[in-house]
Order: sequence, then structure tokens, then C-alpha cells
Amino acid sequence: MNKSNTGRCPARSGGFTLIEIMIVITIISVLMMLVSYSYVGIRGRIRKTSCMENMRVIYKAATLCQTERNDLDSSNLTEKLLFDQGYLRRRATCPSKGRYWIQGEKDKLRVSCVETQDGSEHGYFE
Ligand SMILES: [Zn+2]
Repeated sequence: MNKSNTGRCPARSGGFTLIEIMIVITIISVLMMLVSYSYVGIRGRIRKTSCMENMRVIYKAATLCQTERNDLDSSNLTEKLLFDQGYLRRRATCPSKGRYWIQGEKDKLRVSCVETQDGSEHGYFE
């Protein structure tokens, strides 16, 4: 009697078992999750950096505008007004669709990014 085929697993045919495939799928999904989290973080930082650069440019334009007009009141200053009067070369738009708010007096100006669409904080420049 040949006992080699009784109670033993059949020889592997070279394919993967279900457990091996599930382990690989789990590892791949964890890696994709990590990559997507870091990608979102990088994208957020790029948006904030771009917005900070816009605020810096608006700040300089607002300071120049106040100096030339000898007007210390900034309550009427907006990014659109600065563009319309030629102090900004291009419209400065926040990548998160925030609104730029210019407040304060000469030499104490503050440009803030408020009401971003994605709820991110871009801070202010002063
Ligand atoms: Zn912004």
C-alpha cells in the first residue's frame, strides 16, 4: 500500500495561497494609505507656502500704496484695489480660495488669509 498520498497536502503547483495573496494586499493597502497621507500633507504645505508668498507681495504693495498716497488708513485697501491701481502685477489668489484681509496702519500692516474653502489656516504676514 502506498502511503505517500494519504493525509498529506498535495504538492504545490507554483501558485500563491489565499493567505499569501491577502497578506500582500494588506501590505500594499497600508503602503498606499501612508503615501496618500504624506501626499495630502505635502499638498497642504505647498498651498500654505504659496499663500504666504502672496501675503508677502500684498503686504509690500499695500505699504508702497500707503506711502505714495500718504494715506495711513488701510480700511479701504483690498487686494483687488491694489491690483486695479497697478501696485500688484497679477491678482493674488489663495490656492485654498481664501480671502486676503489687509488691516492695521502704516508700518503696522497685517495681511491675513481668512475664510479658506478647505478650512486650512494660512496665517498672516506682518
Ligand atoms: Zn490662503
